[in-house]
Amino acid sequence: MGGQSGDNGFLARDCRSGRIAEYSSESGDLIKDSGSPGNDCSDSDVPYIGSGLVDLQINGVKGIDFNSCSLSEEGLISAAGYLLTRGITTFFPTVITNSVNNTRLILSVIDRACLASPLLNKCIGGIHLEGPFISRSDGYRGAHKKRYVRAPDRELFKSFQEASGGRIRIISLSPEWDNATDFIRICKKEGLLVSIAHSAASAVQVIAAVKAGARLASHLGNAVPLMLPRHSNIIYEQLANEDLYASIVADGFHLPDSFIRVVIKTKRRKAILASDATCFAGMPPGVYKAHIGGDVVLGEDGSLRMKGGKGLLAGSAKLLTDNVQQLAGNDLTDLSLAWYMASAGPARLINLKQTTGYDNQRDRVLFNFKNRKIFIYEVWKNGVSVWKSQRSAN
Ligand SMILES: [Zn+2]
Repeated sequence: MGGQSGDNGFLARDCRSGRIAEYSSESGDLIKDSGSPGNDCSDSDVPYIGSGLVDLQINGVKGIDFNSCSLSEEGLISAAGYLLTRGITTFFPTVITNSVNNTRLILSVIDRACLASPLLNKCIGGIHLEGPFISRSDGYRGAHKKRYVRAPDRELFKSFQEASGGRIRIISLSPEWDNATDFIRICKKEGLLVSIAHSAASAVQVIAAVKAGARLASHLGNAVPLMLPRHSNIIYEQLANEDLYASIVADGFHLPDSFIRVVIKTKRRKAILASDATCFAGMPPGVYKAHIGGDVVLGEDGSLRMKGGKGLLAGSAKLLTDNVQQLAGNDLTDLSLAWYMASAGPARLINLKQTTGYDNQRDRVLFNFKNRKIFIYEVWKNGVSVWKSQRSAN
């Protein structure tokens, strides 16, 4: 496995610095830096090593839907196991707008699953609550059910946080509600990452939200109507705001390359990737029933569309690893930046090290990038090998 080295180690190339060093086969820890700066030849036999990927927004995987009332502890554990095989060592199951009872039910299942499985507990960085405090307006609201959308409600949120065992760490909302800034201030005080999403907020409201503590624009460029005011609109206001990070879904279908380039140019180190994957990610192509209503078609190319919907997208079926591949494989960024946008970038935003003990030196992924594709070879979580590919690294 990996480049040749001693019995207990292997050679790998740090995907950020390009330096070749020796790592422990057992823990993935750095043993000895070879002192070689490495050359930037991506076709080298020496595989890459990078920090574990961190997905701040994921709705399910492999048929396990994090928003289904039939979500089980076993389902979550097996979802985490699959994500590890793809190099995703930390994820934030995302619970979207639903009835109060269903939301509490799903949150409590996630809490129980974390209590039951120490590995899952380490992999789940927290829960991302997306809604119900979002826009009611069509186009902005996306697939969230209108009847459950409401203004920020402190008591309701408290009950959600209780049901989750205090695990909600990210909340996506719209600042267009009158009491939004007060609510954001409270969330920030409680250590939550507040994100703007599904929002028809004005420029003034976006600025006020950021002043109150909002730090992320989730899936920027999506969950907006097809037609927007040409100058002042929710996309430009969030792009222009220097204090806001932006997450983008780079699945190859949700955003054109030009938009991705603009986000990366304007946000620089504050541009990150989030998969927003549905439970169809990791499934073979075919026709599936979707809980949002109707059948969906998962194409050979990985696109997910409404059946008979004239090409209308039905969410993403690509994981964070695929998003990295999409950027690096299409020369939208180099590999180093694409990997950063899916690992250290989101980890820094959510302050993962301080809150969960995530250590980018101990959550590691050994992989290769050949013919514009990423191949995961081995994954370590907290210094323990949790998955190894059968295939030789070379
Ligand atoms: Zn959304």
